[in-house]
Amino acid sequence: MEGNGQPEVNIGLVGHVDHGKTTLVQALSGSWTDQHSEEMKRGISIRLGYADATFRYCDGLEEPECYTVEEECPDGSSSEPLRTVSFVDAPGHETLMATMLSGASLMDGAVLVVSANEPVPQPQTEEHLMALDIIGIDNIVIAQNKVDLVSSDQARQNYEEIQEFVEGTVAEDAPVVPVSAGQEVNLDLLIQAIEEEIPTPDRDPDADPRMHVARSFDINKPGTSAKDLAGGVLGGSLVQGQLEVGDEIEIRPGREVEEGGQTEYVPIETTVRSLQAGGETVDTVTPGGLLGVGTGLDPSLTKGDALAGRLAGPSGSLPPTWQSFTMEVDLLERVVGAESGETVDEISTGEPLMMTVGTATTVGAVTSAREGECEVNLKRPVAAEPGAKIAINRRIGARWRLIGLGTLTD
Ligand code: GDP
Ligand code: MG
Repeated sequence: MEGNGQPEVNIGLVGHVDHGKTTLVQALSGSWTDQHSEEMKRGISIRLGYADATFRYCDGLEEPECYTVEEECPDGSSSEPLRTVSFVDAPGHETLMATMLSGASLMDGAVLVVSANEPVPQPQTEEHLMALDIIGIDNIVIAQNKVDLVSSDQARQNYEEIQEFVEGTVAEDAPVVPVSAGQEVNLDLLIQAIEEEIPTPDRDPDADPRMHVARSFDINKPGTSAKDLAGGVLGGSLVQGQLEVGDEIEIRPGREVEEGGQTEYVPIETTVRSLQAGGETVDTVTPGGLLGVGTGLDPSLTKGDALAGRLAGPSGSLPPTWQSFTMEVDLLERVVGAESGETVDEISTGEPLMMTVGTATTVGAVTSAREGECEVNLKRPVAAEPGAKIAINRRIGARWRLIGLGTLTD
C-alpha cells in the first residue's frame, strides 16, 4: 500500500452520545477509535479517540460519486489521494465535556453528528454546538445520521428541526448531509461537503513550532531495567511550525516543585528523540493530525497524562505561565445542555470555576468579579497568550456546565 501522507487538518466529530460519531469515523477511516490498545500502540489518545482517513478521488466520475476512501474505483482503476485528514472523536457523554472542550482547541473544523431518529436538539448536540461557537470553530458540516432508521417524511421533518436549531448559531450555513454511517450511505456526499467546508488552514512553515500536549505517558513495560528505559512520550498536535528529531524543546508550565511549602512550576527542557505521525515514524512533523513525541525525559514525569494541557516549543518561544489571570467574560444567556434551560447568573467572587485554555483544563477560584470581567486564582497554572479564549464552566448540580467565554487579558 502506498503511503498516504501525514494528515494536514484536524476535524472534530461532535454531537450527542450514540448518534454515531465513532461509527462514522470508522466508516471513513476503517479504524475504530474506541480501541484503546491500538491507540496506545500509535502512542496518542485514550481520552480523545482519533483516526486518520485519506480522502480519494476517482477520475471520470461525477460529483459526488467521485469521492471515496477506497483505493480502488468502481471500474477497477486506482483512486487518487486528495488529502489525509485526522478525526478527533469527542466523547458525547455529558460528564466528558471538559475532554471535548480541550479537544476542540485542536480542531480546524467539525462534523456535528445528529441522529435522524430523535428530536432535535439532544442535550450534548446543543452543548457541543455551543462549544464550537465559543471556541470559534465555524467550518462545520452537519451529518444527519441513521437515515436508514427513518421514513423519508421523518427524515424531512428531522432536517427541518436541525435547520431551525442551528439558526443564528455558528452552524447556520453548514450543509446538512443525510447519511447512514452504519450502512455506509452517502459517505461520498459527506466527503465532498468536508472538502468544501473544512479547508486545510494556511500555515506559516517558518513559525516556531508549538505543540498542544493533550496526553503524556510512559511506554515502558513494568520491570524494564533502567538502561533500557525509553524516555517519556508526549501526545498532542502541532498548531504551527514544524518539529524535527533532535530539536531542543521547552515544556510549560513545567514541573511542580515544592519548596518550603510553596509550589512552583519550573519549565522542563528536553530533546525530541523520535516522532510519530499518521501511524508512522518520521523525522519531521508539520501541523495537522495527532503526533507522538519521544523525549529524553524521565518517564515518571510523563506518566498518566501528568503533562497533559502543557505547551511545548523552542525555549523562549512559549507564552507566559499564569497562576492567576484576569479575563473578560461573555456569559451565555442560559445554561445549555441542561433540561431546565435555566438562565446563567453573573459570576460571583469566591465561586469555583473550571476553565479550559487550549488543551489545559484547570480549576480556579474567583478572587474578584466585576461586570464583564473577573480575576481567578488557579489551582494549577496554564501557559497561554494574552487574548487566548477560555471556555468557562460552573458547577451546577452534579456537574460542570459551560456558562460562557473568557478572553485572557493579563
Ligand atoms: P457515538 O456515541 O456517537 O460515538 O455513537 P456510536 O458510533 O458508538 O453509535 C451508537 C450506536 O448507533 C451503535 O450501536 C451503532 O452501531 C449505531 N449506529 C451508528 N450509526 C448508525 C446508522 O447509520 N444506522 C444505524 N441503524 N445505526 C447506527
Ligand atoms: Mg463514540
